[in-house]
Amino acid sequence: MTDKVLLVDDSQQARLSIKDALKGIFSVFVEADDGLSAIKAFVEEKPGFIITDIEMPSINGYRFISTIRNMEDGRDVPIIMLSGTKNSLKKKLTGFNLGASDFLIKPFENEELVARVKSLVRMRNLMDELKEKNTLLEKLAVTDELTGLHNRRHFFEALREQLSLGLRHNFKLACLLIDIDHFKRINDTYGHMAGDEILRKVGSLLASCKREGELLARFGGEEFIICLFNTDSENATLAGERFRNLIKSYSFTSALYPALSITVSIGLAIYPQGAVISIDELIKAADDALYRSKSGGRDRVTLYEWSPSPAENKKQR
Ligand code: GH3
Ligand code: MG
Ligand code: MG
Ligand code: MG
Repeated sequence: MTDKVLLVDDSQQARLSIKDALKGIFSVFVEADDGLSAIKAFVEEKPGFIITDIEMPSINGYRFISTIRNMEDGRDVPIIMLSGTKNSLKKKLTGFNLGASDFLIKPFENEELVARVKSLVRMRNLMDELKEKNTLLEKLAVTDELTGLHNRRHFFEALREQLSLGLRHNFKLACLLIDIDHFKRINDTYGHMAGDEILRKVGSLLASCKREGELLARFGGEEFIICLFNTDSENATLAGERFRNLIKSYSFTSALYPALSITVSIGLAIYPQGAVISIDELIKAADDALYRSKSGGRDRVTLYEWSPSPAENKKQR
């Protein structure tokens, strides 16, 4: 919450008296004497609170409020409207309809203005706190706690989004499933804390080598997943080798374990390809390829190659 308030009134006397009443609440007062200069002041000064008169030359208070409420930055800023007694009910209703937060009829007691401002400031602060907490929660919901990378849930959401784009633009994507080799031995030999540290380091190495637009996540346990968009099997294999060599050539050292070299096995699958026409099938294909990397001796990249089953061969004939 900023402690800057925008006072909009064509009477300088009125602005002076409000300023005097609110000097204990706000430290910065921005003033405007009509709606047009008030809009300009709002954009330039970004006040956290607005008090506005209704009857003013050029743009009046109503049009000013509705303009502010239509702006991204102006949706939540508290606005108190001020007006004379004539037709006050109608004016109140119009003001509230346009998005005013509160309304005061002139002449008013300064104590009442102060009380209403304080109550709106309190509400605004609570709303800001809520927003901050929501942003944090949103971030936690898509982040893996240990590595700080995106989690599996985010991965699937982002991939689904990309797939719908891909279907429209007819491009290919590649999925690399990366599994640390013999990771259990590290835990067994140096302890779980050492294992955690290595997982974090592998995650940050992969992140440092990942290119703009590529999707990286911790898939679970000691497995990571990367999606490359608009690529083919040759380029994706090169990328897989790049990630594999990066981990293999890094010397892992820490107070918890001696210098270690670590390798990863990678399974690579391309979408769409043969029967690989859904996310689940893409992951399964990458997992099959990963299994072959493991059984073939680990520390390698294997490309999943789809071949039609005898039944599908028959169908095609
Ligand atoms: P392979 O080469 O066949 O992949 O062997 P591996 O030992 O890496 O695979 P396995 O699936 O047998 O073991 C994976 C280990 O990863 C077991 C599990 O305790 C460990 N692990 C999974 N998540 C974490 C974690 O968050 N922290 C730590 N320290 N270890 C983890
Ligand atoms: Mg006026
Ligand atoms: Mg594993
Ligand atoms: Mg493993």
